[in-house]
Amino acid sequence: MQYHVQQQGVIIGRLQRGDDLLGALTAICREHGVLLGRISAIGAVETARLGYYDQQKRAYEYHTTEASEILTCVGNVSLRDGVPFIHAHLTVGERDGRALGGHLMDGTVVFACEYTIDILTGAELHRGYDETTGLPLWQE
Ligand code: ZN
Repeated sequence: MQYHVQQQGVIIGRLQRGDDLLGALTAICREHGVLLGRISAIGAVETARLGYYDQQKRAYEYHTTEASEILTCVGNVSLRDGVPFIHAHLTVGERDGRALGGHLMDGTVVFACEYTIDILTGAELHRGYDETTGLPLWQE
């Protein structure tokens, strides 16, 4: 499956210290009616909660970090259960310069964050259960 979509506009802003990174970005998309989009962000987190999907067990494992830099947070916006839903991955940099990353989970607390949301139009992508992976992927 693939779609040719158009860029409609861009939302740029910053989050507040203490915000939940995933929750705050999701709220912005829902407030602005972003049904399809692309997300990127940089900044720092007080703690990150990262997911790793065990492909055999078909379940997420989680790990948390201490205060670290948001080296990159990239993701997309589509629809799950009819409402805007963000799938994002986060790479953080620790004190010694090492990078750690994973699936962005709730529980990631913002220290400072500058984000950009590209609003896309021209298709609706809906997530639904995918038998072969056990994940909520885009449906055909
Ligand atoms: Zn993911």
